[in-house]
Amino acid sequence: MTLFDRAKKVIPGGVNSPVRAFGSVHMDPIFFNKAKGCHLYSTDGKEYIDYICSWGPMILGHGREDLVKKAQGYLDEVLTLGLPSDVEVTMAETFTRATKTDMVRMVNSGTEATMSAIRLARGYTGRNKIIKFEGCYHGHSDGLLVKSGSGTLTYYAPTSLGVPQGTIQDTIVCRYNDLADVREKFDQFKDQIACIIIEPIAGNMGVVIPDKEFLQGLRRLCDDNKALLIFDEVITGFRTRYGSVGDYFDVKADLYTYGKIIGGGLPVGAFAGSREIMEKLSPLGGVYQAGTLSGNPLAMKIGLDTLKVLEAHPEIYEKLDRFAYELDQGFSKNLSDLGIPGKVTRFHSMLSLFFGEFDQIKSFDDVQKADTELYAKYFQGMVKEGFIMAPAQFEAIFLSDAHTEDIIEKTIQANRRVLEDICK
Ligand code: PMP
Repeated sequence: MTLFDRAKKVIPGGVNSPVRAFGSVHMDPIFFNKAKGCHLYSTDGKEYIDYICSWGPMILGHGREDLVKKAQGYLDEVLTLGLPSDVEVTMAETFTRATKTDMVRMVNSGTEATMSAIRLARGYTGRNKIIKFEGCYHGHSDGLLVKSGSGTLTYYAPTSLGVPQGTIQDTIVCRYNDLADVREKFDQFKDQIACIIIEPIAGNMGVVIPDKEFLQGLRRLCDDNKALLIFDEVITGFRTRYGSVGDYFDVKADLYTYGKIIGGGLPVGAFAGSREIMEKLSPLGGVYQAGTLSGNPLAMKIGLDTLKVLEAHPEIYEKLDRFAYELDQGFSKNLSDLGIPGKVTRFHSMLSLFFGEFDQIKSFDDVQKADTELYAKYFQGMVKEGFIMAPAQFEAIFLSDAHTEDIIEKTIQANRRVLEDICK
């Protein structure tokens, strides 16, 4: 019996998170038991180049030797206390300095971070309604699973079963990059909107880049209407620069949510903002939020080690930018040389390859024109070549410091061979 057969008997779909099932690319999932640098090793003895990087956290690559050595030492100290620890304070100091926030609360996932940030925004403003954008994914809490992105798009459940109407009646969905749509909703629901939550660079419908005027317009609308702006930086945080991507657009949010990279590979999320808002949280204020493993000392130490490397080595970001630019150029040239309709979207080192004819890629409506069947063929071809790209059209690919110039070159060559093959 294969591992997948065994898995399917005891885990729904054989996976603990839907996108891992490789369903939309018409493959069985591949099972792995080891990762090193930018390489993944499957249980059937094959080696692959990793363009998932655990969906973002492994920005420094897998098993970086200095960090592994430190982590081994941490095991002797403490795993979990459920009590305050020194490293939580150091993490909070480091994190707030990097993100230009006053205070942070640590949680265990991106889902918890966004769920808690929304509760806080509602508690702070005394309002119920929230605005989210079609195609943005903010985790799987009930109120945010409306016209969502990522695996919910791939597996045809952008609005999930089991989410009661009552839970989502206050979730308003707008079009990404459409400020007029948001303005209309503020007019329609005057003094009722607690917050806007947005991926400041969308990564869960493939990479979709906001217009600067759009993000700045959201800021103004929030100010004019006394609503809070939440940047969900679970993907973008520390991905293209040390801290928030809001700085590229000169836009500050009121609350931020983070995850992935800040845990260095362990389950960590965070939400952060000004002292005035954050002090509404229990035990100081009336907004309740808690967690047995929140601020877990092992996760804090390992996350902090990743942040320290990123802070000390800004050249890592320059390298990732350069590699993503080379992939962008290489993939785009291959598509146009071979006459295959497609488009690369890229913001610094965040990048997607969309198949299909597009005038522009600015919103969920645009990405829906993507040819997901061609993407499936492409993915399968790249797997045969030894590359694990995003296993669905509506995801970004992720680079790490462990990728090399040589691997980038090989990726572009493999991309060309696979494209040649699928257009035969
Ligand atoms: N927000 C964004 C922008 C995400 O990309 C994700 C996960 N990919 C989440 C929230 C949820 O994070 P988690 O999977 O850690 O719950």
